[in-house]
Amino acid sequence: MEDDEKQSIVLFPFMGQGHIIPFLALALQIEQLNTNYAIYFVNTPLNLKKLRASLPSSSSIRFLEIPFSSSSYGLPPASENSDTLPYHLILRLFQASASLQFKSSFKEAIQALTARCHGRPPLCIISDIFLGWTANVAKQLGVYHAIFSGAGGFGLACYVSLWLNLPHRKVVAHHFSLPDFKEGTVKLHKTQLPTNIAEADGEDGWSIFQRENLSAWVDSQSLLFNTVEEFDQIGLSYFRRKFPGLRVRPIGPLVLGLKSRDRIGNTRGVITRETILKWLDSKPSSSVLYVSFGSMNTISSSQMMQLGKALEGSQKNFIWVVRPPMEVDINAEFKGEEWLPEGFEERNRATGRGLVVQNWAPQVEILSHRAVSAFLSHCGWNSVIESLGNGVPVMGWPLAAEQFFNAKYLEEEMGVCVEVGRGKKSEVKSEDIVKKIEEVMGEKKEMMRRTARKVKETMEKAWKQREGFNGSSAKSFHDFLSDAKQHREMKDMILFSNIAN
Ligand code: UDP
Repeated sequence: MEDDEKQSIVLFPFMGQGHIIPFLALALQIEQLNTNYAIYFVNTPLNLKKLRASLPSSSSIRFLEIPFSSSSYGLPPASENSDTLPYHLILRLFQASASLQFKSSFKEAIQALTARCHGRPPLCIISDIFLGWTANVAKQLGVYHAIFSGAGGFGLACYVSLWLNLPHRKVVAHHFSLPDFKEGTVKLHKTQLPTNIAEADGEDGWSIFQRENLSAWVDSQSLLFNTVEEFDQIGLSYFRRKFPGLRVRPIGPLVLGLKSRDRIGNTRGVITRETILKWLDSKPSSSVLYVSFGSMNTISSSQMMQLGKALEGSQKNFIWVVRPPMEVDINAEFKGEEWLPEGFEERNRATGRGLVVQNWAPQVEILSHRAVSAFLSHCGWNSVIESLGNGVPVMGWPLAAEQFFNAKYLEEEMGVCVEVGRGKKSEVKSEDIVKKIEEVMGEKKEMMRRTARKVKETMEKAWKQREGFNGSSAKSFHDFLSDAKQHREMKDMILFSNIAN
């Protein structure tokens, strides 16, 4: 069947690696489930250029380009992705993504696609949690719309609740609860707030963006999550109650396969994927701590020093993906000798105890290696899913967004995490980090790994489809497609009866 005869599904992630990755995983999952859909991936030119290079040659995914001129939004030239921007410019990227709604390029791209498909509109548009405005475009064009959250249910529920209520502004105490959370009391501490929420007063740029974005969700019909019903019920029921117009459907875990990742990040330095895998092969099972803070966050230089000392002090094997510290330009030349304890890289490489990888590592391959014991992570949801999907417990050091609530949930509700640090500004002491490493890789190791393996089994079942059995995510996704098809049939019927009349 030619593409123009197939039903098309349009995917539009926010311009950040942590968003593009789960969308790409979703695209590949749909492609694998049913080749009768034509999948279109929408994004800005530079992001698509990178994606084109990273897809397997057998993939039939197509791209729809939305023009984007970073300098007209006050962003540095060629900046189309949060992983190349310093923190103070991230809001501008969010605002730029929102202002795309006024340029009609997305709407025009969908109209052009419809024309190419002999007047048949897409079956659905699935867009990012931060691109709420696309729901209104879908509504205007009569297309079924879904929001896909790469974040988990609990983490996103806390995040949304905070933006809607700003409860921390109304109390003097350090502890406060989320007022609209009826699924059990959720108590947070002020140190668990991402900087933009902590500083929000309701009238600042972030508050305005979030308010407008969340209110645009009412035009959508479905809310998909990269999570699993069985272990994320509190957060999912929050959304079912708060947004009754949205069908909430967990469809995880969606993890981007290895072949599609190679060129997504900006790998630098001399340590290649092959070096890392060979090094891991040489290590005993469950003996390595993997350390990474994701695609866009970094810690401060003093925190880096303490972490470096702790890694050496713990005498455990480690792989640490190092990005420039917070105070330094994100695209700066790598200066390990300034940012890390003296002689750190050379010493640990020579003893074979640790590898420092610059900027970007093949994370999923590392986490699936038998030598990895635990993951010291910022608790971005992709990292969480990738870690637990391999039965690897987490040492949480949340830094931004909903990561604080992910860490809390993993520790308090799931028993697969120990928090080791919090935020980019907090003072951490190497001795305390060493204690936590010893805990997770020592006395608590077996218990935490057993619990993480149970989560892994739940995740594996979620997409299993055998005769007479549909895993919860497989069923959820099937129901979502049925809804979209029903919506299409209804629209077609209305159109047909209008023409007939
Ligand atoms: N990632 C990777 N190598 C790195 C850093 C990140 O492959 O060195 C991938 C990681 O596997 C995950 C994504 O980038 O899929 C990061 O997403 P996450 O939600 O964990 O955090 P974010 O980067 O959005 O803060």
